[in-house]
Amino acid sequence: MKNSGLLLVISGPAGAGKGTVVSKLVKDENIRLSISATTRAPRGKEENGREYYFYGREQFEKMISENGFIEYAQYLENYYGTPKRPVEEWRKEGKDVILEIEVQGCEKVKNSVPDCISIFIMPPSMEILEKRLRGRGTETEENIQKRMKRAKEELALAKNYDYVVVNDTLEDCVENVKAIITAEKLSSQRLSFDI
Ligand code: 5GP
Repeated sequence: MKNSGLLLVISGPAGAGKGTVVSKLVKDENIRLSISATTRAPRGKEENGREYYFYGREQFEKMISENGFIEYAQYLENYYGTPKRPVEEWRKEGKDVILEIEVQGCEKVKNSVPDCISIFIMPPSMEILEKRLRGRGTETEENIQKRMKRAKEELALAKNYDYVVVNDTLEDCVENVKAIITAEKLSSQRLSFDI
């Protein structure tokens, strides 16, 4: 029997470099990235259906009532949620699926999908985190301050994750996440033996 794909939940404060790490991981054709829905406005060159599905509040709430999300959460003033159907279909096909979501969402996924693997991407320091956030050039000062405050709260929750990977050098961080995926695939708990 073919094993179903892994469900990887990747979190970490905004500016920790999760997005870059994930973009390297999805170069593997066995890995899919779930595209979330959000009520926040597109940032920079973001496009509907590529980085996010940009929904109105009403549309988002309708999808909640139809049980269309694996999880959803509020982050700052907006909703963010993981559409259920693509994730389930990919896993059935044996693809590994990555959810790049914040900490409350991870808690909810752990409850509904207990075999998920959670990975926290840690910035090397708060100074570097702030520098990276400012370097984006897409955030207002107020937003940077809010994101830094939220980052501190999130860092305190890293210990609840299965794995913590520091994003100091991008290549090392990606290699470490790949090593986790390899090890999890070899876990006796997951393997179904044909002999
Ligand atoms: P941003 O506005 O920077 O794109 O995302 C803000 C935060 O929301 C990030 O920590 C990101 O990982 C998280 N996020 C993105 N999509 C989802 C989702 O579907 N569910 C949850 N719970 N968080 C999400």
